[in-house]
Amino acid sequence: MSIRENIQRVNERKNTAAAKAGRCGEEILLCAVTKTRSAEEINCAIEAGITDIGENKVQEILDKYEKVKSVRWHMIGHLQTNKVKYIIDKVAMIHSVDSLKLAEEIEKRAAQSGVIMDILIQINAAAEESKFGIAKEEAEKLVMQILEDCPHIRLKGFMCIAPAAENPADVAVYFREVKKLYDEYAKKEHERLDLQYLSMGMSNDFEIAIAEGSNLIRVGTAIFGERNYSKNV
Ligand SMILES: *Cc1c(COP(=O)(O)O)cnc(C)c1O
Repeated sequence: MSIRENIQRVNERKNTAAAKAGRCGEEILLCAVTKTRSAEEINCAIEAGITDIGENKVQEILDKYEKVKSVRWHMIGHLQTNKVKYIIDKVAMIHSVDSLKLAEEIEKRAAQSGVIMDILIQINAAAEESKFGIAKEEAEKLVMQILEDCPHIRLKGFMCIAPAAENPADVAVYFREVKKLYDEYAKKEHERLDLQYLSMGMSNDFEIAIAEGSNLIRVGTAIFGERNYSKNV
C-alpha cells in the first residue's frame, strides 16, 4: 500500500466513524504524525492532501523544516522549556502543554517573536505515571493561570493520549472525560479562550475517539506503516 492509498483508507475510516456518530467527517482534522519519517515520505503525504503534520521531537522539526513542503506543523510530544525557542516561529500549535512553567516559557518566546501561540493542554486522563499531561482535576487551575498570565497564548482545546488497552473500547471512558472538560470550557467566554480542537485518537483508537467527540486525530502508523526507530532521519 502506498502512502496515498493509506491516507485514502484513513479518510474513509474517519468518515465512516463520523457518520456513525451523526457527524461530518470534514469537521475532523487529520494530522499525519511524521516522527521518524523522511522529508520525502512527508512530502508524498502532503501531495496526497495532508495539510497538518505532527512531530514529537524538536530536533526532528528542525531537521526536516526546510525540506518539507508548505504545511502546518504541530508539536505533539513532550516539550522541554529550553527548546521552546527553536520552534516558536515554526509550529502552528503545541498540543502538549502540561505545566505553568512550560506555558510561561511559551509566553516569553511568543512575545519576543511577536506571535500568539495556539496551544492545547494535555490531559493525562488515565492518571498513568509514565505519561505526560496533567490530571483533569488540575486543568482548571492551569487554564486560569494561562488566561491571566499569558497574553501571547491562545487556548484552543485539549489533547489526550489514551492508555494502551487490550480491548480498544476500554479507552472510550477516558476520551469521554476529556470531551466533558472540553465542553465545559467551550461554554466559557474569554478573549484568549477559543476552543476549537479536541485532539484525541491515534491509528488504533481514532474511531473510538471520534465516537466520543474528537475533532483532531493524530495518525502515524496507519499512514506510513510501522516505525523503525533505529533508522536515521
Ligand atoms: C506517535 C504519536 C501518535 C501516532 O501514533 P500511531 O499509533 O502511529 O498512529 C499520535 N500522538 C502522539 C503524541 C504520538 O507521539
